[in-house]
Amino acid sequence: MAGRPGFPVRLGASSAEAATLRPVPARAVKGAAARATGVGLDSGTVRARMLDKLRAQGITNEQVLAAMNAVERHCFVDTALVNQAYEDTSLPIGLGQTISKPNVVARMISLLLGGQKEGSGRLGRVLEIGTGCGYQAAVLSLVAKEVYSIERLRGLHDKARANLRAFRLANVHLLFGDGMQGFAKGAPYAGIIAAAGGACVPQAWIDQLAVGGRIVAPMSTATGAQALVVLEKTEREMKQTVLESVHFVPLKSGIA
Ligand code: SAH
Repeated sequence: MAGRPGFPVRLGASSAEAATLRPVPARAVKGAAARATGVGLDSGTVRARMLDKLRAQGITNEQVLAAMNAVERHCFVDTALVNQAYEDTSLPIGLGQTISKPNVVARMISLLLGGQKEGSGRLGRVLEIGTGCGYQAAVLSLVAKEVYSIERLRGLHDKARANLRAFRLANVHLLFGDGMQGFAKGAPYAGIIAAAGGACVPQAWIDQLAVGGRIVAPMSTATGAQALVVLEKTEREMKQTVLESVHFVPLKSGIA
């Protein structure tokens, strides 16, 4: 593995051989940096295996694969779970919430980018609902120009801030608030991605989406199950596509 990359990390638009996005070791950021280097696993090799699996599962977007390869997922989970960080499983991140499986993260970001031609560079501004531990925000920071990520639980907002501090991602903006209201100041968004599922997509997200933009979100179906939904905004309408079933934590209103 090459030496520590300069920050912000730049990725080749179509290369999966990207620089690793890892915390900058510094005395001031002991926690995350220590975890990044002290786990006793060659995370590059484990991530390469994760990438093979993602390809086998049908993830083809090279920009997404490069971003998944670059972010050290083990830096975002509790020490006891580090060995499971690259497995195809969701993991608890505290306060009853979970970090999605790598496969689901890659799939949703692929859908978010799906509107644009591969190799056409980064998406513009993206809004993420549900920062959680900050992992997906870090992945998004490599495929979008700006990432606004909002979390309703103060404890997780603080955790994400701590996790991300060492990565020094200048294009990630963490917000504490109710994501059901969106974040009007950052609008219009080229993409909105939700990590929590509700009964419908809030009107605020639709209003804050740019024409040509996409919303990717889990949504409850009539049977009470959850499905992944893609909404595309055109000049005249919102086009909705319902995809596979998923299992996300509930989208809740208000802050806590
Ligand atoms: N993307 C996250 C996954 C977090 S799980 C990661 O990579 O870790 C989903 C998160 O959505 C939870 O932290 C939950 O608190 C949050 N959430 C649920 N409803 C929300 C709302 N209305 N606004 C903001 N965040 C919300």
